[in-house]
Amino acid sequence: MNVRIFEIFTSIEGEGIFYGTKTLFVRLAGCPFTCFYCDTKESLPLDSGKEFSIEDAITEIDSQIQSNTFKVNFTGGDPLLQHQAVALLAKNIQDRKIPTYLESSCFDVDRFNHVLPFIDYVKIEFKTRESEFVDIQHYEKLISESLKCLESSINLQKITYIKIVVSSKTKITDFNNLVENIFKIRNSEKISGFIIQPTYGISEPSLEQLMEMYDCVFPKFRDVKIVPQLHKFIGAP
Ligand code: SF4
Repeated sequence: MNVRIFEIFTSIEGEGIFYGTKTLFVRLAGCPFTCFYCDTKESLPLDSGKEFSIEDAITEIDSQIQSNTFKVNFTGGDPLLQHQAVALLAKNIQDRKIPTYLESSCFDVDRFNHVLPFIDYVKIEFKTRESEFVDIQHYEKLISESLKCLESSINLQKITYIKIVVSSKTKITDFNNLVENIFKIRNSEKISGFIIQPTYGISEPSLEQLMEMYDCVFPKFRDVKIVPQLHKFIGAP
């Protein structure tokens, strides 16, 4: 089996509940979606980056793991596009006793479940209706898959948190509906964090919008946080 990897690099985690940690990023090539705020557009084509055999990819990743690395992120693009390869790469990292981390839009629960046993930390990214992620007629299906992934991750007792990117285009009623759906799942009390991430440099939400969104989540989940992307402020990739 081969895998297409866009880039591998060490940096500071700039998002989510583990922001500030030294992280090796393995950015898989390919994402079929079109979020208007995407900041990794070069990695979206499935033929971007470089093709490796699994053995060569493992060798390359191993050679780039620095001392004191907190975790290895499988990111993209969307890693679920190459889920079988990601499962093999993640297993190798777990065998080295380094935590693995998956960041995905969770568009397919079967692919997600294939990778999940080899992942320790899971970021479930829920897309808002206005993100232009998918054609609007497919939006409900996407959210239904993401919810199944969330339940699956919690059931397998992974450290699981939620991220939602919001912009000035995000409608508070849509955001609130999404939050209501998320907290209808069983075991939602086992969610490890809820991050509202404002877009940066494009259609940025106002402070008032962010506070309104925070107020939607807080009554259901007190550990909600508004966290911008740290790496954009410190000039890290
Ligand atoms: S899902 Fe992620 S990688 Fe794909 S277009 Fe959206 S932001 Fe970019």
